[in-house]
Amino acid sequence: MTHDLYLDLRGIAKEFGSFTALKNINLQIRKGEFVCFLGPSGCGKTTLLRIIAGLEVQTRGDIFQDGKDISTLPPAQRDYGIVFQSYALFPNLSVADNVAYGLVNRKTPKAQVRQRVTELVKLVGLPGSEPKYPGQLSGGQQQRIALARALATRPGLLLLDEPLSALDALERVRLRGEIRALQQQLGVTTIMVTHDQEEALSVADRIVVMNHGVIEQVGTPTEVYREPASPFVADFVGKANVIQGEVRDGTLHAGGFRFGGSGENRSVRVYLRPEDVLARPIAEGDPHVFDASIDKIDFLGSYCHVHVSTPTVAPQGLMVYLSLNYLAEHSLQVGSPLRLRLLEERVKVF
Ligand code: ATP
Repeated sequence: MTHDLYLDLRGIAKEFGSFTALKNINLQIRKGEFVCFLGPSGCGKTTLLRIIAGLEVQTRGDIFQDGKDISTLPPAQRDYGIVFQSYALFPNLSVADNVAYGLVNRKTPKAQVRQRVTELVKLVGLPGSEPKYPGQLSGGQQQRIALARALATRPGLLLLDEPLSALDALERVRLRGEIRALQQQLGVTTIMVTHDQEEALSVADRIVVMNHGVIEQVGTPTEVYREPASPFVADFVGKANVIQGEVRDGTLHAGGFRFGGSGENRSVRVYLRPEDVLARPIAEGDPHVFDASIDKIDFLGSYCHVHVSTPTVAPQGLMVYLSLNYLAEHSLQVGSPLRLRLLEERVKVF
C-alpha cells in the first residue's frame, strides 16, 4: 500500500455545530484506483469528498495527496478535477469555453487550449460539439462535457459527486461504463460518491461503505458483497435474507438447521444472499434442504425474484432468484411447492 499511496486521509472529522457529520475517518487510496464512497443519504459521503476538494474545511484531521500535506490549501491550489450531480456547466459559455475554463485560468497558450479541447471532446465521445451551448445538450451529454472540463488540466485526482444520479436509468448505466473505461485509459485516481450500490459494485476497484459518519467497511466489490463486515453492509449492499438463530454448545442453530460454527452461546442473526438459496441441484442427504411454497414472483427478465414462505426456516419468508427457464421447466407459479437448499458455506453470522 505505501509505495503507491496517493491520497491519505488521517483522522478526518467534521462537525456542523453540535452535529457530527464525520468521525475519525482514516483512509488510504492508491494511485490509479477507482474508489466509491457508498452509503445512504446523510452518511457523510459528500462532506468527505468536499473536504478532499477543500470546498469544506475539516474540524480535525490531515490530508496528504501524493506525499504533500494539502490539509489547509484552498481549492484552487489543490490538484483535482470535479464533476457535480447537477450539470454545473456555465450555461452562457460554449462547450469549447466550458472545457477550456481551467486551461484559460492557467494562462495556457490559445493554440494549445484549442488542441486540448478538441482532444477532450473526442475523448468523451462528443467530437465536434465545441460550438454548442449546454442548453442544446442532453443531460448525459452535459455530464460528458463536465467530465471533459474536469480532466482538462490533467489533474492527479478526479472527484465525482453523484455524477449520474440526475440521468435516466439507461443513460446512467452507459455513462458509468464510459467513465470507468476512461478512468482506466487515463489511469487517473478517482473517487465517486454514490448511494447506488449497483453503481459502486460495477465500477469501483474498492468501495468505502459509510454510515452515520463512519466507515463501516473498505473492500473490493466482491469482498464487500461476499464478506460484509457488519449487518449494515450486508443489508445495504445487495439483498439479504435474515434468519434468527443462536449459538449453543459450539453449534449454530438457525431456521431449524444445525451449521458448523463455534463461539460462545449467544443469539445471532444469520444472513444469506438470495443466490445462496438454491433450487437445484439438491444433493442426496444434504442436511440443509427444506420445503417451501411460492408466495410472489417478481418478473425481472431472465431472472425472477421469488419470495417463498417456509415457516420452519424463516417466519418472514425468504427471497430466492430463479431463472425464467427454471420456473417454466418445472411449471412453477404462485402457490407451487418447491424444495430448496441453503448453501452452508455462504451463511454469514452476526
Ligand atoms: P446525500 O446523498 O443526501 O447528499 P451524504 O451522505 O452525501 O448524503 P452529506 O451531504 O455529506 O451526506 O451530509 C452529512 C450530514 O451532514 C447530513 O446529515 C447533513 O444534513 C449534514 N450537513 C451537511 N452539510 C451541512 C452544513 N453545511 N450545515 C449543517 N449540516 C450539514
